[in-house]
Amino acid sequence: MTITSTSAAVIDGKAFAEGLRARVAAIAASFEQASGRTAGLAVVLVGEDPASQVYVRNKGKQTLEAGMASFEHKLPADTAEADVLALVQQLNADPAVDGILVQLPLPAHIDEDKVIATIAPDKDVDGFHVINAGRLAVGQAGYVPCTPLGCLMLLKDRLGDLSGLDAVVIGRSNIVGKPMAQLLLAESCTVTVAHSRTKNLPDVVRRADIVVAAVGRPEMVKGSWIKPGATVIDVGINRISTPEGKTRLVGDVDYVEAAHVAGAITPVPGGVGPMTIAVLLRNTVVAAHRNAGIALAEGAI
Ligand code: NDP
Repeated sequence: MTITSTSAAVIDGKAFAEGLRARVAAIAASFEQASGRTAGLAVVLVGEDPASQVYVRNKGKQTLEAGMASFEHKLPADTAEADVLALVQQLNADPAVDGILVQLPLPAHIDEDKVIATIAPDKDVDGFHVINAGRLAVGQAGYVPCTPLGCLMLLKDRLGDLSGLDAVVIGRSNIVGKPMAQLLLAESCTVTVAHSRTKNLPDVVRRADIVVAAVGRPEMVKGSWIKPGATVIDVGINRISTPEGKTRLVGDVDYVEAAHVAGAITPVPGGVGPMTIAVLLRNTVVAAHRNAGIALAEGAI
C-alpha cells in the first residue's frame, strides 16, 4: 500500500502505566496505614534465562518504587521440582506475601502446570491458576492475567463503553488470547478469536472495531486488514534484524501501514509492554486488601 501520512492516535501505554503505578503507590500507602503492614509480592526465578532475569529485576524495582515489599527467590536451574513446590507452599503460608509470581518459562524438568496449581488462588496475581481462569469465565472476582487486563484498560481509556463493538483477538494462548476474549465478552463486545487455523484472517480482521494481536509473528497484520478507524492493540514483542546488522523490536502489526488506517494504535515498544508490570502491581495491592479483609472501592484502581 502507498504510505502518505500517519493518521491514527498513538495509545501511550508507557504514560498510562506510569499513572497506574502512581495510583497503586497511593493505594499501597493507605493500605499500610489501615493494616499496619506493607503489601508484598514474592517472585520466584528458577535458572539464569537472561530475559527472565531482566523481567524479575524490573518487577522487583517497580514493586519497591510503589511502596510495596519485594521478596525475590532466585534458585539454580537444577533445583528439583519438589523444592520449587515447597517454596511456593511456604510463600502461600507467609502472611507478609500477598502475591506470588513464578517467572515462566521454568526449566524443562519442572512441570509448570503443577507449580501454577500449587500457588494459592488468592495469591495468584498472575491469574494463571485454573481457579482464576474459571472465575474470569463465569464473571466472579479473581485475578486476571496482567497483559490482557492492561490491554482492556487501554481500550476503555480510549473508547469508554465497549458494548456492542466487534472485537477480533488473534491468538488463543492461556496467558493472553483466551483471557483477552473473556474480558471483551464481559464488556459486551461481539468477540471472534482467531488462531493459526482461522480461514481468511484478513477478512475476519477487517470486520473488527477492536483488533488485539497476540501472535508472536513480526508485523503479520497488514494495514490493508484493518477497518478504517479501528482501535488496534499490538501485544506482540518480536526482535528482528535490521539491514544494518542491528536488532529492533516490532509488534505483530505492521505499525507503519496500520497507523494510516486505524483510529488508534499501540506502538511497540511503549504500548502494551509497560502495562504488564503495572497491572501486576495493581493485582498485588488488590490482593493485599482482600487478604487483609480491607474494602477497596470498586473501580478505585
Ligand atoms: P503463544 O505462542 O502462546 O500463542 C500464539 C497464538 O498465535 C496461538 O494461539 C497461535 O495459534 C496463534 N498464531 C500463530 N500463528 C498464527 C497465524 N499465522 N495466524 C493466526 N494466528 C496465529 O504466544 P503468547 O500468547 O504467549 O504471546 C503472543 C505475543 O505476545 C508474543 O509476541 C509475545 O512475546 C507477546 N507477549 C507480550 C507480552 C507483553 O507484556 N506485552 C506478554 C505476553 C506475551 P494456535 O493456537 O492455533 O497455535
